Amino acid sequence: MKNVKGTKDILPDESPLWQRLESTFRTMPALFGYKEIRTPIFESTDLFKRGVGEGTDIVGKEMYSFSKSEDGESLTLRPELTASVARAVMQYNLIRHYPTLRLWYYGPCFRYEQPQQGRQRQFHQIGAECMGTTNPEADAEVIILANSILKNCDIADYKLNINSIGDTETRAVYKKVLVDFLNDNLSKLSEDAQKRLVTNPLRTLDSKDTRDREVVKNAPSILDYLNSESKEKFEQLQSLLTASGVSFEINSRLVRGLDYYSNTVFEFITDKLGSQDALGGGGRYDNLTALLGGNPIPGVGFALGVERLILLAQQNEQPAEAKAQVMIVSEQSFNGIVFRVANMLRAQGISVVTDLQQRSFKSQFKDADKSGVKSVVVIGENEAAQQEVTIKNMVTGAQHENVAYANIVTVLQEIPNG
Ligand code: AMP
Repeated sequence: MKNVKGTKDILPDESPLWQRLESTFRTMPALFGYKEIRTPIFESTDLFKRGVGEGTDIVGKEMYSFSKSEDGESLTLRPELTASVARAVMQYNLIRHYPTLRLWYYGPCFRYEQPQQGRQRQFHQIGAECMGTTNPEADAEVIILANSILKNCDIADYKLNINSIGDTETRAVYKKVLVDFLNDNLSKLSEDAQKRLVTNPLRTLDSKDTRDREVVKNAPSILDYLNSESKEKFEQLQSLLTASGVSFEINSRLVRGLDYYSNTVFEFITDKLGSQDALGGGGRYDNLTALLGGNPIPGVGFALGVERLILLAQQNEQPAEAKAQVMIVSEQSFNGIVFRVANMLRAQGISVVTDLQQRSFKSQFKDADKSGVKSVVVIGENEAAQQEVTIKNMVTGAQHENVAYANIVTVLQEIPNG
C-alpha cells in the first residue's frame, strides 16, 4: 500500500523542520495579539460555494465533496479556512466580545489539483484574520504579521506584491472597461479566459496562460479607476508598510482568485520554487459575512502555504536530527532500576533512550556512537548493586565512575551537548 496521490508523509527526519516552523506559527501571531481558532476539517459544501464563490476554480473543480450526513447534506473537506473562520465568528458572535477580532489558524486543507512540486491535494496553511474594521491599519497589520512569520522561518527569497481592486463601485466601473478591452482582443485569449469574460473577467488579469499574459500587458490598470475612498486607503496602506520597513511592489494585475476580495489584495512570491511561485497571499473581504447570510463584518487576512515554506527552508538548511541527550546502556533492567534512572532524568528535562531488547554492551555502545549522543549512562551489575552509575563522555572518552543517582544531572551538565 502507498499513500494517496497528492498527499505526503512527513517522515521522522523531516518533522524537526516542521516543528521549528510550527513554533514560529504559534509565537509570532501571539506577539501581535492574535488568538488561535481551530475549526472542523469538513464543513457544509454550501459554506464554500457561497464564501469562496461558484465562479472560482476551487469551487468549480477542486473540492472534495461527499454526502455522509443524516439529512443528505453535501459536505466538503475545507479547501481553505477563511470561510470557516467567518462562519465561526458569526455563529458564536465573537465580534461582540472583541471589537477588533484577531485570529490565527493552522491546519490541513484539501484541493483536487494536479500534484507537482509545491502543489498537493492535502496541504497546510498558516493564516490570520483581522475582523471588525475597514481601516487600512488592519491590512497593514496582517501583511506585517505574514512578513514576520516568513522572516522568522528564515525565508528570505521572496517579494511582496500588493494591489487594490477597489470597492464594489470601483469594480463595477472597471469591469465594463476591462470587458470591452478583452472583447477587442477576444481571439488572442485562452479558451478559459474567453469563458470567464462573463463569470469572472478580472481573473484574466492574473491568468498564468501566456496568451492571456500577452493581452493583459496592455489592459487598462484598475488603479486608474479607484474612487477617492479606495485610493486613499491604498495610499495609506503603502505608507504604513513603508514606515514599518516592509518592502513591496505594486502589481496592478494582481487580483487573486476568490470572489470575496475587495480593496487590498497581496501575494508573497518567490522565484525559487518553479511554477508554484506563490508562498501565500490574502486580502480584504468586507462582503464575506454578508455572502454567508449574516451581518456585514469587515475583515482582512492572509494564508501561507506551509509545504512551500518547508521547501524553501530545506534549500537553506539540512534538517537537524532530533537526538536524545543521553543513552542508558545496560544489559538488563535490574528490577526497574534502568527505568527509574531514565525517568528521574526525564523529570529534569533531559531526553533519554534506553535499550529495550537486552542486547550486549558492545552493540549498545555502537548505537550510541552512531546516534551521536554526547553522554552514556552505564548501569552494569556492580553499578546496580551499589545504586550508582558510570557516565561516559562520548566525545572525549572520559569516564566518571561511582556517580550517585543524586549527582547524575550535575555530571551530565558538565558534558557539553552537541
Ligand atoms: P490561496 O488562498 O489559494 O492563494 O492559497 C494560499 C497559499 O496556499 C498559496 O499561496 C500556496 O502557498 C498554498 N497553496 C494553495 N494551494 C496549494 C496546494 N494545492 N498545494 C500546496 N500549497 C497550496
